[in-house]
Amino acid sequence: MTPAYVQRATTGTVARADAVVAAVQSVLGRAEKFIPLHEPEFAGREWEYVKDCIDTGWVSSAGAYVDRFERDLAAYTGAGHAVAVVNGTAALHLALLLVGVRGADEVIVPTLTFVATANAVSQIGAVPHFVDVSMPALGLDAEKLDHYLADVLVIQGGEKINRITGRRVAAVVPMHTFGHPAQMEKLAEVCARHGLPMVEDAAESLGSTLQGRHCGTFGVVAALSFNGNKIVTTGGGGAVLTSDAGLAKRAKHLSTTAKKPHAWLYDHDEIGFNYRMPNLNAALGCAQLERIDQFVEEKRQLAKAYETAFSKVDGLKLFHEPPRSRSNYWLTAILLDAAADIAERDEILQRLNAANYMARPAWTLMHKLEPYLSAPRMQDLSVAEQVERTLINLPSSPRLARHKA
Ligand SMILES: *Cc1c(COP(=O)(O)O)cnc(C)c1O
Repeated sequence: MTPAYVQRATTGTVARADAVVAAVQSVLGRAEKFIPLHEPEFAGREWEYVKDCIDTGWVSSAGAYVDRFERDLAAYTGAGHAVAVVNGTAALHLALLLVGVRGADEVIVPTLTFVATANAVSQIGAVPHFVDVSMPALGLDAEKLDHYLADVLVIQGGEKINRITGRRVAAVVPMHTFGHPAQMEKLAEVCARHGLPMVEDAAESLGSTLQGRHCGTFGVVAALSFNGNKIVTTGGGGAVLTSDAGLAKRAKHLSTTAKKPHAWLYDHDEIGFNYRMPNLNAALGCAQLERIDQFVEEKRQLAKAYETAFSKVDGLKLFHEPPRSRSNYWLTAILLDAAADIAERDEILQRLNAANYMARPAWTLMHKLEPYLSAPRMQDLSVAEQVERTLINLPSSPRLARHKA
């Protein structure tokens, strides 16, 4: 027979799951059809610009929309320079190369991230080294990282070497989780103190600022993504951001097969990549960027509506943007109390999805993924573990702010 305390726990879990579904329904209304986590919206000049590409024949990897998209991105973020590429992973790959990451290096990466952050490191032949995040922002924990680097790094021949693995540590990659700006000023300080360049994974944070400064402008280089589920989309796409004109030029060169500019000669001065964004995709991006302020505004309103609804539910809260920042709330998240277990999370996920509200947990942590089981890591990854156990993402498309129940 099931002991009474287990039954009680189960009853509490079921009641909480019911309360969560009711709260979501109070914000989104009843879902006749499945409501995805994040849908793209093409209600501006997308069709006009894409049609223009087809009408003029400029659909491929050169054209006026690519130049315009890069200029618009640089202006919107204040980054100085933007180089548009085929996806966010390619942007990260280039960004890491630009700061000098080489095969056999190690790169510091949060264990709480989408797999692309770690994969971009691996694609160079380098090794991701996983560290913990902290609660105010769900990004890299600056203080913990500082102590950790002080313990792990030794300087040999001017290089920062991991004294345990003997590999050179070549960069730190903070990621702005679900659009919430990481502790960038503190992280910049920590990176400077340890002599490591900072590469920002800003794939989720276009439209987010910290102290008025745009995510993607704190590191030496940053990567954006315009995948179909991101805040603006080009179908698939990404961009490298940097304030350094030389690095921007090098990013463009590497992304275009390292071809030396010439009217008819195919002469390449190193092994480059075919990473350039096609004009067709950039056309979509130009039209999407014209509407980003509205998207951010609506997503913030939606988060606020969820926050109000969840303030009446015990045992969890909406994840609120960190202090001094303005988040794009790319994906809204609720956090269960620290004591909650996976079974409670899964019960809520089960109920929400069954009620047609798409919901999902945070990513499986990087250090638990099969290809990264033996990667170097901080021993204490407890905050990321807690987030994995207690976080749930909810439908976050901007249009949902207009469909108030
Ligand atoms: C989306 C995303 C990427 C990669 O973007 P793609 O365009 O899908 O290659 C990288 N990092 C994070 C954190 C992301 O969310």
